[in-house]
Amino acid sequence: MSGVRRDPLTGRRILIAPSRASRPHDVHDAMPRVDCPFCEGCEEATPPETDAVRPGGEPPDSPGWTVRVVPNKFPVIDPADGVHEVAVNTPRHVTDLVELRTDEMASALAMWARRLAVIAEDRRDLYPFCFLNQGAAAGASLQHTHAQIVGLPFAPPRLVAREKAFADGANPVVVDMVDVDHPRFVTAADGLVAWVPEVPPLTGTVRIAARERAPSWDAGSEFGAIAGILLEVLARIDHAFDAPAINLWLNQARPGSDGGYHWHLDVISRLGTLAGLELGTGVIAVAMSPEAAAERLRL
Ligand SMILES: [Zn+2]
Repeated sequence: MSGVRRDPLTGRRILIAPSRASRPHDVHDAMPRVDCPFCEGCEEATPPETDAVRPGGEPPDSPGWTVRVVPNKFPVIDPADGVHEVAVNTPRHVTDLVELRTDEMASALAMWARRLAVIAEDRRDLYPFCFLNQGAAAGASLQHTHAQIVGLPFAPPRLVAREKAFADGANPVVVDMVDVDHPRFVTAADGLVAWVPEVPPLTGTVRIAARERAPSWDAGSEFGAIAGILLEVLARIDHAFDAPAINLWLNQARPGSDGGYHWHLDVISRLGTLAGLELGTGVIAVAMSPEAAAERLRL
């Protein structure tokens, strides 16, 4: 019963993923669970790893890793049709991304980029996308910090429209990017800028991008710098909005292509819930103006 279905009226596609219903949930628990499948030493609780950083060279599916990638045990898409992987960002039971050290964050980001590139290379029929959910309100089921990398068997229309905007020569990131004296500016460091978009995808969005255009993350990206500004943005969000649930996703050119794209990382503070207007029309009502959100984020 799993697979992709297409709405004949709108062309919109959905994923039928009944196995998602049997996922374990620990995200409501106040204390870390002793049987967390993502902690070091619990490698047998996950499917065999597909990638890992192992500074000591230990064999796969044993302790000694710093970032570990496994197939999602409860995939949104059948493995015959696509890819759904989990990148465990640290072997420590860290439940809030903001608690990662900069070197851990940088190592995790480099792994996300590597897995996106692997999907693009091995499965050219798939559309790679990377996201992270943190907190129950953001859709997380397990607390231990992890990102998810999917290879979808179709290109999502919203992301195709974004690709087209870059390919047409207008750079929507550069057009929107602001500098230090602007009311929507949040912070800047090492050639990177964080700001609140003029038209955010959801209330409480902070966008991070490099001033210099690069289409996507690759092995040469400055992950230490990206990790640094991301951790600062997360700390500012926690301070400004009382540690909300977080969604985060990377918009980039399909690895290996360019198309005028300018990668950008969106960090979403889940301050509200999606209601009838949003779900029925796709029109978002933003409870706080981008300028007011940025002002709070700068404090
Ligand atoms: Zn854990």
